[in-house]
Amino acid sequence: MTVPILPGAEIGVLGGGQLGRMFTFAAARLGYRVAVYAPDDDTPAGQVACREIRAPYEDLDSVERFARSVSVVTFEFENVPGATADAAARHAPVRPAGRVLGTTQDRIREKAALRRLGLPLPRFAAIESSADLGAAAMHVPGPSVLKTAGWGYDGKGQRRLGSGAELRGAWAAMGSPRAVLEELVPFRSEVSVVGARGLDGSLAIYEPTMNTHVDHVLDVSVFPAPIARRTRDAAIEVARAVLEGLDVVGVLCVEMFERNDGELLVNELAPRPHNSGHLTIDAHACSQFEQQVRSVCGLPLGSTESLAPAAAMANLLGDVWSSGEPNWPAALADPGLRLHLYGKNEARPGRKMGHMTSLGSDAGAAERAVRAARAALLAGKEGPWTRR
Ligand code: AMP
Repeated sequence: MTVPILPGAEIGVLGGGQLGRMFTFAAARLGYRVAVYAPDDDTPAGQVACREIRAPYEDLDSVERFARSVSVVTFEFENVPGATADAAARHAPVRPAGRVLGTTQDRIREKAALRRLGLPLPRFAAIESSADLGAAAMHVPGPSVLKTAGWGYDGKGQRRLGSGAELRGAWAAMGSPRAVLEELVPFRSEVSVVGARGLDGSLAIYEPTMNTHVDHVLDVSVFPAPIARRTRDAAIEVARAVLEGLDVVGVLCVEMFERNDGELLVNELAPRPHNSGHLTIDAHACSQFEQQVRSVCGLPLGSTESLAPAAAMANLLGDVWSSGEPNWPAALADPGLRLHLYGKNEARPGRKMGHMTSLGSDAGAAERAVRAARAALLAGKEGPWTRR
């Protein structure tokens, strides 16, 4: 049996973004120290960690030195190069393992793994060179979505196609040969399930959330997802199958489409806490970030029980700053609103700057409250707070 890594130890995190920041808060509350390794400084995670090491992921000597200085390494940035995870693994356990990252970093490998597990996927064709284009266009005639195999998140590297005739041009324009061509799924809703798996194989899986996206980026997540019991059970079963099938130690999210007939299709995996799980910080007994701490340290997992009947989370993108400082007092006038800001200095359009969560007696009420608070950020900004 592996000995657990106990409070007081130092956990290394590869990546300095908001996921690392929220992980660090959870780890610190449990008495751990956190060291962040990222190519930038003054990162959202580094601002709240005990140590911030600024070095490129490709600097394997620095990565090895970092891994030697901590008890366990995890990551919050899922595109950490495979060689970086391997270098870290020479000196400390890396959880989830680099092999899980290697699978989920590449849509072709990810879909192959999901297919091996017998999970339902949108119709797709893998493209590795121009020789595959003809067969791909025949197999997925359109309408479809062409996605680069690597570096895909928040709709980046994606293009919608009306028919197979557009494939060759769109593929050439992508500038990366490895891609997948996927049917455009006419979905009723998008749902995701976040789950954790411990070192001993134990599982803690949250109820599904329903997610709405704007311009391919998550906008609002609602718990519990308003889906049929049968669909809810199927979604949780998919998460279990992936966590066990990929032998994950850590947290993983499965994003799915709910087709009009209620059937689920797996869209993609994230081997880390997920934006749709941020509401677990305020709405659940143990958050997805605390589950990550517990799982990578080999501690028992926490309860996924909810503290309220419903909750909703709304993202705050840089766009909210477009006409100046948002009206924080107006949003916080709702005493139940929970505000999370990530400490990013520059508010660029589309950049995730923070999120808000509201609890409620039902999903509709929670969603209305969080949307109203977000709208209030942009309401007339004249008020006592602007007069110094
Ligand atoms: P992804 O980065 O693959 O999660 O895609 C971002 C968003 O684009 C998804 O959450 C969907 O809203 C949309 N999308 C991606 N793939 C498909 C598809 N095959 N059919 C319909 N919508 C899609």
